[in-house]
Amino acid sequence: MNTFKPAPSCTDINEYGSLRAHDALNLILERVEPVSGTEQIPLQHAGGRVLAQSIRSDFNVPAHTNSAVDGYAVRGRDLDSAGPGIEFRIIGTALAGEPFPGTVGPSECVRIMTGAVLSRGADTVLMQEHVEIGDRVIRIQGTHRSGDNVRPAGEDIRQGETILDPGRLCTPADIGLIASLGRGEVRAKRPIRVGLLSTGTEIRSIGTPLEEGTLYDSNRHILQAALQKLPVEISDYGIIPDDQVILNQTFANAERNNDIIISTGGVSVGDADHTRECIEALGQVVFSKVAIKPGRPLTFARLSSGFFFGLPGNPVAVMVTYYQFVLPALKKLAGIEPMPKVLTLRAQTLNRFRKKPGRTEYQRAILSRDENGSWLVASTGRQGSGILRSMSLANAFVILDHDESIVERGEEVTVQPFETLV
Ligand code: AMP
Ligand code: MG
Repeated sequence: MNTFKPAPSCTDINEYGSLRAHDALNLILERVEPVSGTEQIPLQHAGGRVLAQSIRSDFNVPAHTNSAVDGYAVRGRDLDSAGPGIEFRIIGTALAGEPFPGTVGPSECVRIMTGAVLSRGADTVLMQEHVEIGDRVIRIQGTHRSGDNVRPAGEDIRQGETILDPGRLCTPADIGLIASLGRGEVRAKRPIRVGLLSTGTEIRSIGTPLEEGTLYDSNRHILQAALQKLPVEISDYGIIPDDQVILNQTFANAERNNDIIISTGGVSVGDADHTRECIEALGQVVFSKVAIKPGRPLTFARLSSGFFFGLPGNPVAVMVTYYQFVLPALKKLAGIEPMPKVLTLRAQTLNRFRKKPGRTEYQRAILSRDENGSWLVASTGRQGSGILRSMSLANAFVILDHDESIVERGEEVTVQPFETLV
């Protein structure tokens, strides 16, 4: 009798796993809901936070019609009535923050600086470069139109206008707009709580010696650095050996305090890979294999209060699965709305890209432009998922579709620049 059992394989189910990348992402995004808590925060801390309120203006910005240049404020109709060479008598000065108190009459002007309130009676500013200056008098050169060089009140923000909506991930420009409304605080979504751990008996912390067969933990440091760009509060659970009991305890503890747990390593089918079993005891595994390269054993689970991502241990696989699957989940969890679009471009290859059909591949590449401005892309070389330098050298992913095979030099591919990833 045959007593041999087929070994669990990392290449079963359609050889590479049947779940396609975009279906995996949909399974994630269908489940993840934005956190509901909000908090009042000072504007100084609101950059990169998600608004939980809309921002509506109580007044016009700028509040007053003002000059866009350094020059002379005049009545536009005085220009219409005469040709070049016409003179205006200077009756005073308007500085930014120091308006001219009088009124501009016929053939009169006020010396005015950029940002100064447009003097009463005037509706036009002549650039100082376009006039000849005499003794308390200017003579205009060229032709000018009534209304030139004037910034109307409310040209930036109109009173009553809603300028930002809930879900907005605040950019520096947004912070500037809120400041221009005189608001020192905003209501933001609370940061999402992320629990982070590395698994692997062979993984060592920085500062401890490396015995034979051990290596330093890069994954937790990669993830910590990548997470800096999001509104998160990180709980670091350190390095956990491949020990089911300790893993169980750590996951159970992390689950109580986090919206999402991200662990690396131990999700494959090796004898020391316990993550999946532990998570099954704690929640519902949605998938544990995706047809991607690198990162196939990516595991996603729903826990009783939160979510779990088990990323494969190889650092490149960590980065690929983080950017392609975890990051969109974090953005949704953080309440960013609308979900930012994935930005890609097409570029011509400078070398052949090897690939077999059946998985979406995320190859590391260097994007550049030729002298005509056309996009070109070259591989960083060897693509092993343990070669972290391939990520460090790269500035973009070349994304090769599930069904695609070898791409010859000179053909076009889809490229996702790292700059477009948060
Ligand atoms: P695993 O997914 O646990 O089978 O790990 C795959 C490979 O990634 C192994 O060679 C591990 O040693 C390596 N690895 C796992 N975790 C880390 C880590 N935190 N930092 C660097 N390499 C790691
Ligand atoms: Mg391992």
